[in-house]
Amino acid sequence: MRRGLDYHIHTFYQKCGNATLTVENIIRRAEAIGLTSIAITDHLNHRGQLPNFRLIQQDIQQVETSIEVWFGCELNFEGCDGQWAYDEAVRDEYGFEVVVGGIHSAYTDSQDPMEVIDIQHRHHMRTLEDPLVHVLVHPYWFGDGDVNRRTPEWWQRLMERFPEDRITELAQASAANNSPIELNSAAIFHNGRYSEGFQAAYVEFVRRLAERGALFTFGSDAHDIGQLGWSDYAEGVLDGLGVPEQQVWRPTRKATA
Ligand SMILES: [Zn+2]
Ligand SMILES: [Zn+2]
Repeated sequence: MRRGLDYHIHTFYQKCGNATLTVENIIRRAEAIGLTSIAITDHLNHRGQLPNFRLIQQDIQQVETSIEVWFGCELNFEGCDGQWAYDEAVRDEYGFEVVVGGIHSAYTDSQDPMEVIDIQHRHHMRTLEDPLVHVLVHPYWFGDGDVNRRTPEWWQRLMERFPEDRITELAQASAANNSPIELNSAAIFHNGRYSEGFQAAYVEFVRRLAERGALFTFGSDAHDIGQLGWSDYAEGVLDGLGVPEQQVWRPTRKATA
């Protein structure tokens, strides 16, 4: 089923998305390719980045459109076991509606897969249980440095042998907190640094999560206007697994009228 959801999109404002990603371009492109509900979720890695969100919000308000556009941000931990640059006061001051967040580093050079998984897992659990964060972003995405420190075969084995007890914990935390796990196109399924074997194992990881009741959402993680709509692939993955519609999360609450 083609839903046209994309709840992870960057803009040019925080310099991670490129110049093509103005808010107006995003919305016009989203309309043109048949997206129905999107969230603009630029990086909020530190509080110095907050003022740009006023500009993003103003842009959203100025573009007339019939599609649903949510105002959001993407959080990162400020260090291993660190905090977000975000709390209730920031939410209320800026009116963020869709908050996606997660860990963005391995925080270890270890070649022991369980050491890598343990660090990721405890951050994933914190994210799923955090009432201020709606979506756990791109689990088991890693940046270039972390990826290149291990072989493609190492990454594939990590995912193929992903431990059962961690799957169960993630799925239960997702269901219990109404916190979806993101299926991310740019970071995972369209990421050329991950082998086909890794990606096949990742789909199996998603299947095991789904069987245990996890909720899911879709994100292109677009850093260029051409990547908008890549969330379509993530939707296809979930549909290919036959996951029921009630396990697809959608934003439900507008913080501002
Ligand atoms: Zn990210
Ligand atoms: Zn992102």
